[in-house]
Amino acid sequence: MDKVIDRVLVSEEDIRVKVKELGERISKDYQDKDLLVVGILKGALVFMADLIRAIHIPIEIDFMAVSSYGAGAKSSGAVRILKDLDRAIENRHILIVEDIVDTGLTLNYLMDNLKSRGAASVKVCTALDKPSRRKTLVTPDYNGFTIPDEFVIGYGLDYAEQYRHFPFVAVLKREVYEK
Ligand code: 5GP
Ligand code: MG
Ligand code: MG
Repeated sequence: MDKVIDRVLVSEEDIRVKVKELGERISKDYQDKDLLVVGILKGALVFMADLIRAIHIPIEIDFMAVSSYGAGAKSSGAVRILKDLDRAIENRHILIVEDIVDTGLTLNYLMDNLKSRGAASVKVCTALDKPSRRKTLVTPDYNGFTIPDEFVIGYGLDYAEQYRHFPFVAVLKREVYEK
């Protein structure tokens, strides 16, 4: 692990405390609404699994998979749906669950896309927010941790499809992607 990790940014304990807090807020905010939680694969997998278990109102879940970064550390800017929702979402309250909001291009696309299908509301819960690189006006409604402009791995986030299983968020050593 030390070969690829520069330093740990968010520990397992930090995550545990924050997820509980987010679950409480979401449960309160949606207590009178019929909530569909939409996880964005693959990055949101770990956060989604933790978050839904911290929500104590009835919910349904679904998933979408979109392409963004590919194998490297730079954004392509292109968004493509690789896996769509299983069901229609007309008049449903949607909470998109993301691993990280960086430029915001992915989220911008997803929000427009889900709104155009007639959702009653579309909000966003992200584990991490990197606001310094934003290219759009989107702001997550719920955010775990605001982080500096560095490439992170773990807690669902990959580098070349690796390291998603690390239970914490860490900064990837520059030499790993600059060699
Ligand atoms: P955006 O469209 O906001 O620029 O980027 C969204 C996607 O890019 C995220 O869902 C994530 O897959 C990827 N991404 C952005 N920043 C990072 C990062 O620091 N580490 C990793 N592993 N992926 C990132
Ligand atoms: Mg993502
Ligand atoms: Mg990725």
